[in-house]
Amino acid sequence: MSWEESNPKSHPCPCGKSEYVVIHRSDDWGRFEERWEMRCPRCNTDYGLYTYHLNHKGMTETHYGWVKKSLLQELAELNRQMEDQKEGLRTYLRMHYGAKWLQHFRGKTKKAVWSELTRDGQVYPSLSTLYAHIRSSGLECVLEGYLNHQNVSTVTRILELNDVKLTKLIQIVRELERIVNQKERHIRQQAIG
Ligand SMILES: [Zn+2]
Repeated sequence: MSWEESNPKSHPCPCGKSEYVVIHRSDDWGRFEERWEMRCPRCNTDYGLYTYHLNHKGMTETHYGWVKKSLLQELAELNRQMEDQKEGLRTYLRMHYGAKWLQHFRGKTKKAVWSELTRDGQVYPSLSTLYAHIRSSGLECVLEGYLNHQNVSTVTRILELNDVKLTKLIQIVRELERIVNQKERHIRQQAIG
């Protein structure tokens, strides 16, 4: 399958002294891509290409823009901190509550497990989805999948945890998520293109 490339379309670069070009590529399957190339040496030093995805009417749209490299580095550093904290939270949960969590469900029917995890179907997954997950990877593995930042509120609710250190770790992760989102919004506003 071959890609067809459009002629490069020229745009003024951020410093205004030269240009960047956008090349559209498409194939017979209706796949569509853009390639952005900076042709200004000065802007090539100062700017990097920021790519992000937005959902629009059920379709994922890819957007591009030129952003100061210093901002991209700040974002990368914040993301690194956030991932470290998420990993720390996961490790803490597994070490302190992993055994208790598995023990809690021991001997219960799959339906009872589902009912507790989802408060009778108020949240993901549906009963049939949970059955499918248990069939493919086993109950223990499915339960261990809850020991992370995304599902920690389910764990604290079911085990009725009141752990100051855990609460603090969750707050740190949430705060970093907020800061990263804010930084990404800022970068999208600054993006040139
Ligand atoms: Zn330039």
